[in-house]
Amino acid sequence: MILGLSLERRKILISGAVQGVGFRPFIYNSAVKLGLSGYVANTSAGVTVEAQGRSTSIESFLRAIKNRHPPLANPKIVSWENLLPVADDRSFIIRDSQIDENHRALITPDAATCPDCLVELFDPANRRYRYPFINCTNCGPRYTIILDVPYDRPNTTMGTFEMCPECRSEYDDPSDRRFHAQPNACPMCGPHVWLTDNHGNSIDTDDPIAQTTSLLEEGRIIALKGLGGFHLAVRADCDAAVNELRNRKYRKAKAFAIMVQNIETARKFATINESAEKLLSNFSRPIVLCPKITNDTLSLLVAPSSRFWGIMLPYAPMHHLIMKGRFPALVMTSGNNSDEPIENENDSAVENLNGIADFFLMHNRDIYTRCDDSVLKVFQAEPLMIRRARGYVPTPISFRRLWTEDILAVGAELKNTITYVKDDQAFTSQHIGNLIGSSNYENFLRTIEKLAALIDAKPRAVACDLHPAIVSTRFAETYRHIHLIRVQHHHAHIAAVMGEHNLEGPVVGIAADGIGFGSDNTIWGCELLTAWKDRFVRQGSLEQMPMPGGDAAARQPWRMAVSYLVKTLGCDKALKLAPELLRNIEDSRIKAVAEMIENSINSPLTSSLGRLFDGISALIGLCMDNTYEAQAAIELEDAVDEKENDAYPVKITYNETGLILEIRPLIEAIIRDIQTGIENSTIAAKFHNFVVAGLSRLAQELASDLATDVVALAGGVFQNDLILSGLVNTLERSGLKVYFNRELPLNDGAISFGQAVVADAILARGDK
Ligand code: ZN
Ligand code: ZN
Ligand code: FE
Repeated sequence: MILGLSLERRKILISGAVQGVGFRPFIYNSAVKLGLSGYVANTSAGVTVEAQGRSTSIESFLRAIKNRHPPLANPKIVSWENLLPVADDRSFIIRDSQIDENHRALITPDAATCPDCLVELFDPANRRYRYPFINCTNCGPRYTIILDVPYDRPNTTMGTFEMCPECRSEYDDPSDRRFHAQPNACPMCGPHVWLTDNHGNSIDTDDPIAQTTSLLEEGRIIALKGLGGFHLAVRADCDAAVNELRNRKYRKAKAFAIMVQNIETARKFATINESAEKLLSNFSRPIVLCPKITNDTLSLLVAPSSRFWGIMLPYAPMHHLIMKGRFPALVMTSGNNSDEPIENENDSAVENLNGIADFFLMHNRDIYTRCDDSVLKVFQAEPLMIRRARGYVPTPISFRRLWTEDILAVGAELKNTITYVKDDQAFTSQHIGNLIGSSNYENFLRTIEKLAALIDAKPRAVACDLHPAIVSTRFAETYRHIHLIRVQHHHAHIAAVMGEHNLEGPVVGIAADGIGFGSDNTIWGCELLTAWKDRFVRQGSLEQMPMPGGDAAARQPWRMAVSYLVKTLGCDKALKLAPELLRNIEDSRIKAVAEMIENSINSPLTSSLGRLFDGISALIGLCMDNTYEAQAAIELEDAVDEKENDAYPVKITYNETGLILEIRPLIEAIIRDIQTGIENSTIAAKFHNFVVAGLSRLAQELASDLATDVVALAGGVFQNDLILSGLVNTLERSGLKVYFNRELPLNDGAISFGQAVVADAILARGDK
């Protein structure tokens, strides 16, 4: 062989999710197998490889990077260049990390325990037998334990644990599955669990997990410290236990999620189609909403009046151990008081949850960033996000940028998330929640800080809601010397769809939700828009109606029912009919609300579709009070007789706003149906069909005016399966292309991303 002649050397830059996922050992092993020499190194931008060998081997090497990388990795080959071969370079080595301050490698989300680790977890001969912190480069905590980049052990909450010689040798061995697995640990050197009573006093036991399992078998409520925070767990097949949890948590009716041991168990309780199975068992292990099957095992109190179970499979080693207990399923709900963030610290958990949990299973691996469980459902065979957090964040969403600088968007007031945009990627944070409570606001501030550090964001603009009084807007206003862009809520909803699908305007946008501050200072909530990324024109809405008591009307659907009755029948007739229909509400309260409406006292006008669902639900006696968000609407959807095809009359008129979908003819028809004894299931169905028909008409009329065939749907109302599928089918049948959020939630969880998309477009325009 003539040395040197056939040798090539290439420098390859790789970005994407490549750190802490077993990528370097994979590179090392692939290179060695192909007889290549050179090196691989982590940089803060990703991974750099120099590979030397025959050109055919280098080509195979590149193909392997693309097609055979480890499961959690998501490598992108950024560039390569040819270098002069280095004489005497005969081996392939893994070099120490190099730090480049300008770019950062992507941090990966937390990942469920992998099959290899599971085998070891249950192998009595293994040194990690029943060790609740077992992990490897293919699984384990990531985002929740990272303090800073690059992703190296000292930059995680595992930094305080020194590896024992055995763990260290695994960590240093490129051929080992734990090579540079940053959270690597064993019972000798790693974190441990302990059990306490509800005052935080340790309970003496050899096996805290076995003890926890038997307490759960007895029906006790346990606070379990997991990956992203504490769960409250109780067996799901015991009415008394579930009821006790509801009482202690002051949670009357909102569904709880359950954890089951495996897919086979899940199938006993729910219809699990192929997509749901895939989703349930992927590395993110989200809660998946699956249609219930009638069974006498699970307590009906777990998810009263819902057609779905929120199901998840075990994702941390501790869950796998506990789920061996003698119970069919556990309720696993976020360990928090309502409207507070999920607890992630031992002391604070005891302080805040001691009235709820009987015992605490704690550990000493700190959770730096709290992360709730993510929630998804399957819609038309594809996943649809409902709450985006653990297992998904901080994976960025790529979108076509128009401006070059970094942007921060601070999101909505409810279901808050924040988004940073950097290069052509949007990093939307985990679900933060309602910003009304002070601890949630604190969590919001910390998330803004932490996420910026991880991705090295240096925002030159901040985007916020148009509403002047909400705390995220107030916070945005504290930034000095950078652009402040205010974005209307429903425009942000539609822009989020445009960003996710890279749509250019104009599109026909329908944004339907509970509440969003409108450009005319009224409360919007069912808007027909012509939308571009940088601007919009309001082209129509649902007919506006008074919302007596403002926010109180969102909590008490019966107030909306009174409003629709008064505005449809006049005050006198409404006052005669209302007490008959709204049976649990005292006459005096109805009268007081009717007077507020008549005199326009504290009764702001709204075009909210969410409120219309509330009002109809109350009118037919289903739900008078929302004990959780959208309860009345969910119960109305659950009541629908899906065989009913008839719809209430759709009447669209035209006024200075544009096309108006009228409410009065709907209310008249519903009253007639109630009075002739038509069943609720029929009324609920005809109402849903009315909404589908009404919104389709609005979209079709605007599409033909604009000569476009692109429709974007967004807003919490579309989490209603019947509405979304009805509208998608109707519009597609008429030749329109329909887009909606799937990677991000359809609800206000996508608002920060939408704000960022709008700000990006506005600032790019300004630069020209
Ligand atoms: Zn593993
Ligand atoms: Zn060890
Ligand atoms: Fe909204």
